[in-house]
Amino acid sequence: MVKICCLGAGYVGGPTMAVIALKCPDIQVVVVDITKSRIDAWNSDTLPIYEPGLDEVVKQCRGKNLFFSNDIEKHVSEADIIFVSVNTPTKTRGLGAGKAADLTYWESAARMIADVAKSDKIVVEKSTVPVKTAEAIEKILTHNSNGINFQILSNPEFLAEGTAIQDLFNPDRVLIGGRETPEGQKAVQTLKAVYAHWVPEDQILTTNLWSAELSKLAANAFLAQRISSVNAMSALCEATGANVSEVSYAVGKDSRIGPKFLNASVGFGGSCFQKDILNLVYICECNGLPEVANYWKQVIKINDYQKSRFVNRVVSSMFNTVANKKIAVLGFAFKKDTGDTRETPAIDVCKGLLGDKAKISIYDPQVTEDQIQRDLAMNKFDWDHPVHLQPMSPTTTKQTLDYKKIYDSMQKPAFVFDGRNVVDSEKLREIGFIVYSIGKPLDGWLKDMPAVA
Ligand code: NAD
Repeated sequence: MVKICCLGAGYVGGPTMAVIALKCPDIQVVVVDITKSRIDAWNSDTLPIYEPGLDEVVKQCRGKNLFFSNDIEKHVSEADIIFVSVNTPTKTRGLGAGKAADLTYWESAARMIADVAKSDKIVVEKSTVPVKTAEAIEKILTHNSNGINFQILSNPEFLAEGTAIQDLFNPDRVLIGGRETPEGQKAVQTLKAVYAHWVPEDQILTTNLWSAELSKLAANAFLAQRISSVNAMSALCEATGANVSEVSYAVGKDSRIGPKFLNASVGFGGSCFQKDILNLVYICECNGLPEVANYWKQVIKINDYQKSRFVNRVVSSMFNTVANKKIAVLGFAFKKDTGDTRETPAIDVCKGLLGDKAKISIYDPQVTEDQIQRDLAMNKFDWDHPVHLQPMSPTTTKQTLDYKKIYDSMQKPAFVFDGRNVVDSEKLREIGFIVYSIGKPLDGWLKDMPAVA
């Protein structure tokens, strides 16, 4: 029986390994983590992360060929294939602070593998890492190898939170990069055989190591760039009376462009986009490519601009001050169907409103009060460094809001600011609300109270 061990029981390691175990009954999969509470949660009825469909997959395999354990060294030493899916946050201090990836967790994982390995191993980079990381990892492993052969593969993960299980069941592609040596290619084929249990062969792409590492950063940069592009257009729409939904529909109908990732919003969030683009920017700078670095940096700048534009719109609409005004914030995670609050735009929006002394009440069905308090108290980039305790999935119940009742209980004029363009603005206007929807023609009130960017 092939044995897989995965270091890191987070948003990627947990769901990815659960799906491998489900699809490959002939493979034993053990997920390990340095955080005991995480492993305990994976072994309990309340998993540490919320993902639609995840509970069912884990329940089907746990205890059969899927295990969660704290005994890292034992399982690493027994494994044939080791996935490393540890966090790779943005550095907060030292060289490259605020941009470069912090590979502390990765390096200590590699050193530990070198220390405990007694047989040949395939080590798979599942974490998103800077291009050329495999070279550094190879050096750590081979300098401490005691004659053991290590093959490093890059197998970046493309799942999206909120649809992780669906994405893992039906990936657009699986990417495996390896050394172009006979041993490297043999390792590529071994990993390919794992995915081939359920992914059609023509969707399993094999490349050299550097292409695979860079493709992940490139894919996230392209996705985030689309969001910043449409968000930049949303500002122009508000200034001109165009409607961003109509513009993005018309643009997306062009088959060369396509309709996905063209929704204007208060900005992208999540643990990956900003971190990976900053990392890309840093790599470009280190390679003497300042123009390329600046090009990608602009994607982040527009995202920050969009968040502050939203806050400014709220404040300016309410007579240029929200001091002591009560504001309800609906939704806090960075998108629906997840409890993940890392880099959620809600943090910047709430901090902006708090900075103007608003009284805010926040509700998200997937996020605990404790987590929200922690997020609002933390400095930028700090979220991924202390062990990030995940919100327990409290409820999945969908709730409907009685906007008429809400309106009746509010001070007038009553406002709704829609950072996702999800409410029925016409209905709310009929009730009496002043509604701001990103990139949509402005209500008369909002036109008279222009936001200062
Ligand atoms: P996470 O913080 O949820 O999980 C990482 C886990 O690794 C933590 O539980 C941590 O305790 C553990 N860990 C750290 N060092 C360890 C060690 N030496 N041994 C064992 N466990 C260790 O992070 P995540 O969201 O799962 O992301 C992991 C990687 O995958 C990152 O590089 C990220 O960029 C990448 N990625 C994330 C997503 C996503 O949607 N979250 C998607 C694709 C790729």
